[in-house]
Amino acid sequence: MELNNLVRENIRNLKSYSTARDEAEAGFSVYLDANESPFENGVNRYPDPKQKELKKIISSIYGIGSEKIFVGNGSDEPIDLIYRIFCEPKIDNVIAVSPTYGMYKVAAQINDIEYREVLLEDDFSMNPDKMLAATDKNSKIIFICSPNNPTGNLIDENAVKQVAKSFSGLVVVDEAYFDFSGEEGFIKKLADYPNIVVFRTLSKAWGMAGLRIGLAFADESIIGLFSAVKYPYNIGSETQNIVLKFLKNSPEEKIRQTISERERVADRIGKMSGVEKVYPSSANFLLVKFKDSKTVYNKLIDNGIVVRDRSSQPKCEGCLRLTIGLVKENNRLLSVLEGDNIVINTGRTVVLERKTKETSIYLKMDLDGNMDTYIETGIPFFNHMLEQLAFHSGISMRLNVAGDLEVDEHHTIEDTAIVIGEAILKAMGNKEGMARYGFLLPMDDSVAQVAIDLGGRAYLNWDVKFIKDCIGGISSDMFSHFFYSLAMASKSTIYISAKGENDHHIAESVFKAFARSLKMALKKEENSYGLPSTKGLL
Ligand SMILES: *Cc1c(COP(=O)(O)O)cnc(C)c1O
Repeated sequence: MELNNLVRENIRNLKSYSTARDEAEAGFSVYLDANESPFENGVNRYPDPKQKELKKIISSIYGIGSEKIFVGNGSDEPIDLIYRIFCEPKIDNVIAVSPTYGMYKVAAQINDIEYREVLLEDDFSMNPDKMLAATDKNSKIIFICSPNNPTGNLIDENAVKQVAKSFSGLVVVDEAYFDFSGEEGFIKKLADYPNIVVFRTLSKAWGMAGLRIGLAFADESIIGLFSAVKYPYNIGSETQNIVLKFLKNSPEEKIRQTISERERVADRIGKMSGVEKVYPSSANFLLVKFKDSKTVYNKLIDNGIVVRDRSSQPKCEGCLRLTIGLVKENNRLLSVLEGDNIVINTGRTVVLERKTKETSIYLKMDLDGNMDTYIETGIPFFNHMLEQLAFHSGISMRLNVAGDLEVDEHHTIEDTAIVIGEAILKAMGNKEGMARYGFLLPMDDSVAQVAIDLGGRAYLNWDVKFIKDCIGGISSDMFSHFFYSLAMASKSTIYISAKGENDHHIAESVFKAFARSLKMALKKEENSYGLPSTKGLL
């Protein structure tokens, strides 16, 4: 490899910006060179553009000289720099495995560089001959991500070596996830492979994603070019200080735990019926092929769990990428995937699943009305009543009930009431700042009166006289039963009285009035942050 021939002409001729502190190695006590504020506040001075302290400790951690280390603003910086240094827009090209990390392509597009993708094999291994066959005289860089994102597998070391030996350009080996692989990687082998540039990051195993530190390791002639082209002060002084501090604590124990959790989660997911394949992983995530990944994805979202849908990536149809979290987070993931779950979201949202011999109910409820309402119980009149309940209370509900309607409506209505009641109770959380009481007095045309106390005591007072035995196909005593079950499950005191001349209207006015008073009781009161009780306890 002749480095000078690879570098763009403008960069070859670059005289890079000489920063204020380049000569200020030591011995100065008065800094009047950089137009900084002289008033000390901890950050009034420019940071060290060469990050000498930082590189010293990185050098000792990775066992490689400081002159072979580049410290960037996330891996995004060396990814972008390598294009800007080596690739002539509209002329040069790069080659990357596919599927892989999206930033290589984004940076290629930003820099107007042709990006060639070579599909991995079905087992996600890389065929080095195919990589080399995609190159031509304008190929400057080959990107290989190992362990690969999103597939999780290590790329065979010998295949990488073959590509590096035969290619006259640079080979980037992105080892962002290497800490989870138990292997050694290419940093120690750079002397034998002078055209390899290894990327590492402090964003993953080191737990510093928020600080934005990406590392590149390569021959010092290459690192020299990175340093010449980067923004002079690319890492802020506070960032350098915090990183220095964090680098003193080895993440080894956390890595060990993540690896053991990865194996546990992979094992459990591998046994689930909706799963087609769990791909082997050397990273801190799992790529899992589901029979119906869209449904799984939405169900996870409804339960407050976000994962990465990779199903649009080549060879990843039906695949979700699941990051390994804390033990309790992984357990929550597993329980949602396995289906028997009661999971509370943040805020005033709740998801309940309840399965009995008679009914199977799924309910997502948001007390503050931040989603669409969708109700399906199999009983049209009941749907209609619950839609009134949702609309007039301002509560969003996604409710799906599959009940034993071939017997009668009893279980469906009772269990729905229980789930709605439990959902209200759980979604209220600790009830801080909540109004607690709701009253609805009769207005001109209304015939129902409802009073509610959400304070924790379950009681129903029902004073509603229906004219007929059956309303909208539902036995009329089921209405009191519905509110009784709801009052018990939500631990609420509910007084309902209503009268009129048409059962449909009476029933509807009861649901509306109940919804309205529930809305009042659930409302967060401004200027009130305590519990709505003189006892300080609900
Ligand atoms: C997460 C990740 C990185 C790290 O990116 P930063 O910009 O350093 O946070 C790099 N490469 C791959 C393949 C990744 O998945």
